[in-house]
Amino acid sequence: MSGRVPLGMALPRPTKSVPVGPRLLDTFGRVHNNLRISVTDRCNLRCTYCMPEEVTFRPKDELLSFEEIAHFTRIAACLGVNKVRLTGGEPLMRRDLYRLVELIADIPGINDVGLTTNGLLLKAQARNLFDAGLHRLNVSLDTLDSGRFRTLTRRDGLDQVLEGLEAAKYVGFAPIKVNAVCIRDFSEEDILPLAHYCRQQGFELRFIEYMPIGADPWERDKVFAAQEIIDHLEREFGALQIDPASDPSAPALDFDYPDGYGRVGFIASVTRPFCGTCNRLRLTAEGKLRNCLFALTETDIRPLLRERPDDAQLTEIIRQTVWDKWEGHEFNTTKFVKPSRTMHAIGG
Ligand code: SAM
Ligand code: SF4
Repeated sequence: MSGRVPLGMALPRPTKSVPVGPRLLDTFGRVHNNLRISVTDRCNLRCTYCMPEEVTFRPKDELLSFEEIAHFTRIAACLGVNKVRLTGGEPLMRRDLYRLVELIADIPGINDVGLTTNGLLLKAQARNLFDAGLHRLNVSLDTLDSGRFRTLTRRDGLDQVLEGLEAAKYVGFAPIKVNAVCIRDFSEEDILPLAHYCRQQGFELRFIEYMPIGADPWERDKVFAAQEIIDHLEREFGALQIDPASDPSAPALDFDYPDGYGRVGFIASVTRPFCGTCNRLRLTAEGKLRNCLFALTETDIRPLLRERPDDAQLTEIIRQTVWDKWEGHEFNTTKFVKPSRTMHAIGG
């Protein structure tokens, strides 16, 4: 029997009954159309803000197969999910990931398939991923200095990431987004080099505030606030212009550079939480369904995809999971409880 797996304190349960219909609604009226799927907890880097140096990965047979993931996505699509992002761990460590992209891109109702990757294995896979129907590509890159890259990721690989980005551009991904986590007393000197590089290459840079989901003890003082990064950029480039086309419900705040050459975005999860408009549902690599990155409970749906497939029950569980969603994470309050799993194991 699949069931809720308690990971921490119990959450209050909504009392209203779950609505049926082709939309995934929660009790705050948020409609969920966005599914983030982790395909592996493995990674070829060890970013300090994401995972511990020593880690035991799940046995491969515990991971959902591509067919199981696609099956789940088909059911989610019937409930209004139209946007999917593949993540991990490092998703490109799953062999032939492009096959999963093909399966998902073919699902009626899914019109947007994205991938977040550290880029190390991208050079060899960019063409297949593009041809398979991948629409959006985000590559994580926090620094252009190889020594600092090694300090942050505990591995070498900057040149491979840059080659991966080049290959992705060559095969036609556009726009390519570059995600950079910003940590105070470390990232200051990376901001301008990354901004210049992305403008030159035609990539959209996105700065991400440091969240309490890694292995290291998180300190609020280490969060480099989006507004501070904006100030930093404006000293170099002049006043950034809010992008009139940017979606107010999207997590990122997007700006144009004043000379009109390029865009830069900010994901200010700590200083400007976007929980009020959150539309995301998450599936972990081993088949746990979560309604929030910071959720303290999750539901094991692998048995319903593997040992005794049951689409009706899966549908009910997806609806219930969304319905049970809390108002938002509380890492700006003393009530915040950090999930027991770190980012790489949930899926970023
Ligand atoms: N391995 C892939 C990558 O690095 O792009 C995908 C998984 S990773 C967990 C997804 C995103 O989460 C990356 O952009 C990473 O920088 C971000 N991330 C990881 N830990 C974070 C943290 N503590 N705060 C903010 N972002 C974080
Ligand atoms: Fe791996 Fe991505 Fe986490 Fe870095 S952020 S350790 S690349 S999963």
